[in-house]
Amino acid sequence: MTTTLALAPVGGPTLPQERRILTEIPGPKSRELFSRKQHAVPGGVNIALPVFAAAAGGGVVVDVDGNSLIDLGSGIAVTSVGNAAPEVVEAVTAQVAQFTHTCFTITGYEGYVAVAEKLNRLTPGDHEKRTALFNSGAEAVENAVKIARSHTRRQAVVVFDHAYHGRTNLTMAMTAKSMPYKSGFGPFASEIHRASLSYPYRDGRSGPEAAAIAISEIEKQVGAENLAAIVIEPIQGEGGFIVPAPGFLPALAEWARENGVVFIADEIQTGFSRTGALFACEHEGVVPDLITTAKGIAGGLPLSAVTGRAEIMDAAHAGGLGGTYGGNPVACAAALASLELFEHGGLTERAREIGVVLRGALNALRVEDQRIGDVRGRGAMMAIELVDPGTGEPDAALTKSVAEYAGAAGVILLTCGTYGNVIRFLPPLTISDDLLREGVRVVREALAAAPR
Ligand SMILES: *Cc1c(COP(=O)(O)O)cnc(C)c1O
Repeated sequence: MTTTLALAPVGGPTLPQERRILTEIPGPKSRELFSRKQHAVPGGVNIALPVFAAAAGGGVVVDVDGNSLIDLGSGIAVTSVGNAAPEVVEAVTAQVAQFTHTCFTITGYEGYVAVAEKLNRLTPGDHEKRTALFNSGAEAVENAVKIARSHTRRQAVVVFDHAYHGRTNLTMAMTAKSMPYKSGFGPFASEIHRASLSYPYRDGRSGPEAAAIAISEIEKQVGAENLAAIVIEPIQGEGGFIVPAPGFLPALAEWARENGVVFIADEIQTGFSRTGALFACEHEGVVPDLITTAKGIAGGLPLSAVTGRAEIMDAAHAGGLGGTYGGNPVACAAALASLELFEHGGLTERAREIGVVLRGALNALRVEDQRIGDVRGRGAMMAIELVDPGTGEPDAALTKSVAEYAGAAGVILLTCGTYGNVIRFLPPLTISDDLLREGVRVVREALAAAPR
């Protein structure tokens, strides 16, 4: 057996906050682990940048070769409170020594109830709410749809262009992009209908104009009387960090309310301070009926939630919702520690500051490089869309080469977008301004090195 990890440093915010390159990336130990992975794990489970982690914290990931990489991905918007955050480590350590599992639907425990109470209080709107806990984002979305159908006694669900809601059968149907999420994996769940999204950079429409188009599609192609729920990400995540034009979300929410349709905000990626508000819906004063959360909720432990109006949440019969692991006590302990940091630890303010630093640096870059067609996002959820400056056509090849250059230079950089031409910046909220700026400098180098 390899004992690669024996000398691993302890993670958390005390790790030296620096980009440090000791070997080529991936280094020899990562390459060795990757070759073991290739023989033990199916190719469908891919690794974007095949380095293997030894420790992480603050704004860096240290790999098994001792390289320290700037983390601009947070494991896809998960470690918002920082990796191995001391408050989370302490809460988890205490809980794991008490009990690790009972199954909440067999024997209850306080942590689950406390997380539900906190989410009921922190999510938008001061109406009476309930929260049910699950393990993954996709599972939360599945359950939100179950609850909406149970409440409305209707079946149809509307989702949007560029949507991403997960990889289970129902959520694959709800996700827009075929490759790599759906291709070859059908047949998909029925009664899922797709409407047009507001995409200001590409459609140039105002929010109300774009909403009128979507609403007309819904009325003509589905019919309000058949529609259980509208499910929408307030800012599209995997689909390209698309911020809808102002007024789009409020118009849809209003239409849903008038028609008895459950308005579900999928805040799995946008939630928990990421966008400079606790939830992205707050930027436009939208109060969803149900809200799904996961990713940033528990400092890296698997947990997800559906929170919403009591009368909707209570529609499902006893025993109709649940699961073996949903709301695991260790994950709940991590969530309580994380939620405390989101509420009182200054992280929402920090997300706004990160947004100012990133927007400034990326706009400066755009002035000197016309291949950056758009700079968009909110808070610590920012992106650039790379295009052919002549035609505006998406440039996926350039995007891929920038991400690869950055990885080799010690910066973890994620891509996204229906057309594969968006680079997203979603660092841990514990990253320093210096590391952020250095990360953007590497992107600048990467753009300069790419053939025009
Ligand atoms: C990641 C994501 C999901 C799926 O979450 P998993 O935990 O990967 O199942 C659903 N919706 C949105 C908006 C996401 O970003």
